[in-house]
Amino acid sequence: MNQLKTPYYMCEESLLRKNLELLDYVQRQSGAKIILALKGFAMWSTFPLVKQYLKGCTSSGLHEALLAREEFAKDNKNLEVHTYSPAYKDEDIDEIARISDHIVFNSPNQLFKYATRVKEINRHVSLSLRINPEQSSSPKDIYNPCGLYSRLGTTLANFDERVLEHIDGLNFHALCEQDVDALEDVLEVFEAKFSKYFKNMKYINFGGGHHITKKGYDVEKLIGVIKEFKAKYNVDVYLEPGEAVGWQTGTLVSSVLDIVHNGMDIAILDTSAEAHMPDTLAMPYRAMVRGSGEAGEKRYTYRFGGNTCLAGDIMGDYSFEEPLHVGDKVIFEDQIHYTFVKNTTFNGIKLPSLVILREDETVDVIKEFGYQDYKGRLS
Ligand SMILES: *Cc1c(COP(=O)(O)O)cnc(C)c1O
Repeated sequence: MNQLKTPYYMCEESLLRKNLELLDYVQRQSGAKIILALKGFAMWSTFPLVKQYLKGCTSSGLHEALLAREEFAKDNKNLEVHTYSPAYKDEDIDEIARISDHIVFNSPNQLFKYATRVKEINRHVSLSLRINPEQSSSPKDIYNPCGLYSRLGTTLANFDERVLEHIDGLNFHALCEQDVDALEDVLEVFEAKFSKYFKNMKYINFGGGHHITKKGYDVEKLIGVIKEFKAKYNVDVYLEPGEAVGWQTGTLVSSVLDIVHNGMDIAILDTSAEAHMPDTLAMPYRAMVRGSGEAGEKRYTYRFGGNTCLAGDIMGDYSFEEPLHVGDKVIFEDQIHYTFVKNTTFNGIKLPSLVILREDETVDVIKEFGYQDYKGRLS
């Protein structure tokens, strides 16, 4: 591993399998179907493993749906491709209809516009409407689909009963890194507003944001909530986590390029918070670094900055027992979800390679990036 060129993301298959086994336990005990939200984790070289457990993928539009069909659900009728977009375009919808098993519409308008057309192309496709239950305790506005003026989902006031002749299901997505209590709060409001329509439905999709694989998540309670819901309304239940699939399954490994001093010691790394760990700035949160403490906790404190010209491209301040040197590796923990799916080539900085640590301990560099990946997006 010491010979690998940094930066790289390394996904550990054994950790991924551990998450998948827990998610599968939830499926088997509760009867829910769990599908992967590609938005959060789309390292498709791991899909041969993922599809041993999960029932399909949910995609946010044509490109993710194509990936789901090609790399996950190819030639297997038991694996499902679900597609949801805040709004579909004429130029995409026919192909989406051909490759999707479920199409979820964001508004009655969009549903009326496309329902007949997609059914003519694919009479097996199941249609659903995304509901905005207007109840969420999401920790951050940027991740709150039920916040003030949210465009995501149909509120009760905007619900048009004429949708009922087209749909088999209802979706909501209202959580972000949350526990079962938050789900129960959403369900209470969702049921109070919409349960009168459940008798027309084959399934209810509880969206993502369930932090099932996080230590301390009450898995047994979730199973109970799902079983009760299924029994009460006689519907199938879907969950579509992204983060919980990739949660703590690997690292972003970088190298120290230089150490400069300006009021404090600052290490410049061959990666970037802005380009390679975007949620650390968007959420924001402080990524853990292996072997480090808080600033000042251990003897030598450094600020970590990215190798871009953005002043705010800072990962945070970290301390170590031993001084850092140029060439040392810095390992950011838990950098597999919402990282490479969001990366940019800002500043022309090289994209981190994608590496899989297989269960037999072999290391596969599955993708390396270079100048063409930068140039190819420009003209
Ligand atoms: C983002 C998203 C998900 C996945 O959310 P996680 O927080 O990664 O579990 C699922 N469904 C929808 C509609 C989403 O937008």
